[in-house]
Amino acid sequence: MPQTNTEKLWDEVLNEIELLVSKANFVTWFQKTSIKESRNGIVFINVPNSFTKEWLKNKYEKSIIKILREIDPSIRAIDYVICSQHSTDYGKNSRQKTIKEERVVPQMELKDFYSSKDSLNPRYVFDNFVVGSFNELAHAAAMAVAKSPGIIYNPLFIYGGVGLGKTHLLQATGNKIREDFPNLKTKYTTTEKFTNELVSSIQNNTTFEFKENYKKYDLLIIDDVQFISRKNKSQEELFHVFNTLYENGKQIIFSSDRSPKSIPDIEERLRSRFEGGMMADITEPEFEARIAILKTKTKEKNINIADESMEYIASVLKTNIRELEGALNMLSAQTKLLGKNLTIQETKDLFNKNILYSKKKITFGKIIKTVADFYEIDEQYLFEKSRKKEFVLPRQIAMFLLREDFNGSYPFIGQKFGGRDHTTVIHAYEKISNGLKKDQRLKNDIQKIRDFLYV
Ligand code: ADP
Ligand code: MG
Repeated sequence: MPQTNTEKLWDEVLNEIELLVSKANFVTWFQKTSIKESRNGIVFINVPNSFTKEWLKNKYEKSIIKILREIDPSIRAIDYVICSQHSTDYGKNSRQKTIKEERVVPQMELKDFYSSKDSLNPRYVFDNFVVGSFNELAHAAAMAVAKSPGIIYNPLFIYGGVGLGKTHLLQATGNKIREDFPNLKTKYTTTEKFTNELVSSIQNNTTFEFKENYKKYDLLIIDDVQFISRKNKSQEELFHVFNTLYENGKQIIFSSDRSPKSIPDIEERLRSRFEGGMMADITEPEFEARIAILKTKTKEKNINIADESMEYIASVLKTNIRELEGALNMLSAQTKLLGKNLTIQETKDLFNKNILYSKKKITFGKIIKTVADFYEIDEQYLFEKSRKKEFVLPRQIAMFLLREDFNGSYPFIGQKFGGRDHTTVIHAYEKISNGLKKDQRLKNDIQKIRDFLYV
């Protein structure tokens, strides 16, 4: 079917938008849109549901109009038409049935008692889940699913790196659904558990029961589905469980540490099921979000940490929320041990020693290289005997860091620095330690060097 001019118009808009937004956002919000018509300066856009409509309206409308006007200045506004289509393929040229915004209530199985075997942890709720632009999409999607399980987005596929809140979000969704829809049979499980259960059911000749058991849930949450890779039998069973639940309007939620496309060795039909509903990614939290998370956690744990210390932690730990929590736990334990609040310097010292050192394996070479790079001198000058001022300070700092962050012994460091006596190293170490107490510039320099070393 040849494209009409309006279709071409929307194609151009999509091409532009694709450059502006992340892949996940594009797939989620734009891939299932098409143009209906352009009339009297108003462009009517087909969208799959009211949630997409709201989202486009609130977040993207300005950009869409701007792009449209660049192509056709007579365009004044856009409007949305909610369409429904059974197929997950909402190709731009496909015919779409326009219907009124109506909700099909899925047949949910009622049950008279709530089973506590669903493995939901009450600690993970929406209330203590901090939202920033890094996880906004995933959060909004999960909230929407929690509001109307089985109706809006099925399946919901959340993906993102380690420690970024996937399990928390999945569990929060499960907890909310359990609270608001107490009659629904909910199940949270990990892919590993699913696979193990399948294996033992094969051994015990109970695969039938295994399958039947999974098919009776109204909400099935499967965490870390990337582990299904290469497990053919699990993939097959998951596929069948999925289909049964899906066809009966039951909600399925997955998480994965990567997008469906990037999971190696999975059957194409399973991959397309993963991609068939709503996909949302969680990226690394921005600085403000990291601070907000630290604040939420300190409140939760009832610990007192100065703002400046939190800022310091948030400026160093950037990629993993679990590590932020780990840092707080460590500081909290120390606070209790000492029976007093830590000063900022104490916090930093503790943090540097316990978290940073264990986090990254700092090597001798790395310290030398980082210090030399920082002062823009050749590494060899650090080892030579020159007394020139521009070499002495970097050399002493290198020795200090080798002692403090690398745990090198004084004789070891002396020997590495051209066979100097260990007392020379002690002298350097003390000079820098004392300097740190009063010399702000030195403090800043060392902080920056550590940032380079550890980040
Ligand atoms: P993942 O499953 O992605 O590896 P988790 O959900 O286990 O990550 O999160 C790791 C830790 O960080 C958990 O203790 C969780 O409560 C916390 N966490 C993650 N994201 C958030 C958030 N947005 N707000 C508050 N805490 C969070
Ligand atoms: Mg997890």
